[in-house]
Amino acid sequence: MPATPAIYARISQDRGGEGLGTQRQLADCRAEAERRGWPAPVEYVDDDTSAYSGKVRPQYRAMLDAIRAGDVDAVVVWHMDRLHRRPIELEEFADTCTRAGVKDVVTLHGEFDLGSGDGLLVARLMAAVAANESDAKSRRTKRKQRELAERGLPSGGGMRPFGFTPDRLHLDEAEAATIRTLASRLLAGEPLVSLVRWLQDSDIHTVTGKEWRTTTVRNLLLSPRIAGLREHQGQVIGKAAWPAIITEEDHARIVALLKDPARRTNRSARAYLLSGLLRCGKCGSKMVTGRSRDRRRYMCRTGPDFGGCGGTMISASVEELVAEAVLYRLDTPELAAAIDGQQRKDENSAALSESIAADAAQLEELAGLYAAKAITGPEWVTARTAIDARLKANRARQASQAGSTALAGHIGNASALRREWPQTNLSRQVPIVRALISHITIHPGTPGVRTIDPARVGITWRV
Ligand SMILES: [Zn+2]
Repeated sequence: MPATPAIYARISQDRGGEGLGTQRQLADCRAEAERRGWPAPVEYVDDDTSAYSGKVRPQYRAMLDAIRAGDVDAVVVWHMDRLHRRPIELEEFADTCTRAGVKDVVTLHGEFDLGSGDGLLVARLMAAVAANESDAKSRRTKRKQRELAERGLPSGGGMRPFGFTPDRLHLDEAEAATIRTLASRLLAGEPLVSLVRWLQDSDIHTVTGKEWRTTTVRNLLLSPRIAGLREHQGQVIGKAAWPAIITEEDHARIVALLKDPARRTNRSARAYLLSGLLRCGKCGSKMVTGRSRDRRRYMCRTGPDFGGCGGTMISASVEELVAEAVLYRLDTPELAAAIDGQQRKDENSAALSESIAADAAQLEELAGLYAAKAITGPEWVTARTAIDARLKANRARQASQAGSTALAGHIGNASALRREWPQTNLSRQVPIVRALISHITIHPGTPGVRTIDPARVGITWRV
């Protein structure tokens, strides 16, 4: 008969409502010790911890120490899962008991002699079952998440996403309109910093009421959610149950654009409308921007970094002249015809869209097969890799065609643009100018003449 038995009791949160409070466990265990005619046991009680969470249980550790020290020679526990939920813990416990010669380990749901092979085996099995229960909980959560994803439903949690109502299934129309504006301005070539400035100027905030930053705008526009797509673990797995704010095609172009490694992030807005577009009429070098006698100018510069002849300079007021030419050009039938012709030439762009759609559909199908367990995870990944590569390449090509978007809505409608032009942000003007103009040759001026002679400005139109 043991001389100094111990009782171990523990409250865990995962089985609330099953009458497993420590008082109940202790009462049952005391009754068991008494029934066996054992002396009054020492009681070890841990409160409010799930053994599986890996948190330290001070009283459990104290009991192990007492067993090692020979101060405890028997243990009564209500159920083995009160003692440990992880198999590794059981091993430690069994080892400690074996070394200390403790053979009486009693549970109210079965009795083990941990010193014998069978007792340990049963205990191990029970610990494995207990561990599995905890695993099952997290598996259930994961399965639930996957089910929601497969049905295109939102997963909930956290703040509502910008553009959507709190149920995440309907649009917040005002915010959705903001997203559409951001998307089209980005596709028209406007940098993120400028979009952020626009949001600030328009007094539009994030759902938490904070100011937008380039990173938050970037994440918003990259999110497949705004194209009505459901993402699960970083992969788009199909159509979502909520409406799209922008088209999948536009979203694909945005992704290609923002993930283009050549793209410099956080670049500051330009100060010169025509930087990089002017060529020296004498030597053909690119003219650079700068100030001279406190006036903004474009000039051909000599020196190792520039390599020009230094013979041409023109006042930045050439910008007004070029802007005027651009606005005029936008209203000409020739441009409409040229754009029209280019679109026909871009029939392959339609083929590109089709190929992208087909690949996206195939990815969706694969995800479905994986979800239905018709293929394994590795098979899914293998099949996906090839399609992903092709998709990426096609989306990059699509993004490179995005330049023509800068002109969308402006052709034949230049009068509205003309009215807005003086107030229009430079970063919106630049893409429009660059979409139309290949380069501009600046011919040498007559010394002493202050106004710009339009004959000096030779525009080479792109379309
Ligand atoms: Zn030159």
